[in-house]
Amino acid sequence: MNHQPFKDWLLSEEPLEAQQSQALQQHLRECADCRQVENAWADASALLRRTPYAAPAPGFTDRWQQRLAAQRVQAQRKQAWVAIAVTAGIAFVLIVLFGTHVLDLLASPASLLLAWIARLASLLSVYGILQEVFSVLGRVPPMVPAIALFFAVGFVCFLSVAWLATYRQLTTARRVV
Ligand SMILES: [Zn+2]
Repeated sequence: MNHQPFKDWLLSEEPLEAQQSQALQQHLRECADCRQVENAWADASALLRRTPYAAPAPGFTDRWQQRLAAQRVQAQRKQAWVAIAVTAGIAFVLIVLFGTHVLDLLASPASLLLAWIARLASLLSVYGILQEVFSVLGRVPPMVPAIALFFAVGFVCFLSVAWLATYRQLTTARRVV
């Protein structure tokens, strides 16, 4: 005897069609094997239905919320450490790149001033060369008037000095801390 569709139908959670249900009932009357399966399954389902759901231990929600808060604090601390490490890395790179300049400034402001004047002079000479090139090309004075260039160079110098002053203040502040 072939029991297969009947055993499947017995264990199925899906409702059976009327025809299937009729066939199953008829088979159960004839087949002790499948009757046994039906009884065992009925017992098991009844047992499952009778067993109450396990309730959470008292204070579960409180403990869960506390743990969540602790994990958040830990994550924030980790982020803070990452930020500190990145800042320290950037500061280190800046010190390596500009540290010698700051030391120069502290050691002899006059020589740095001279260096800046030399830089300005070289810029002006580049400007003079450009002017010559333009005049050779037959153009009348270059688009940028000399006075504007002078102010631009002055502004760049001012920015450099401001940067150095800020940097020095930052380094001294770190030393105090
Ligand atoms: Zn059967």
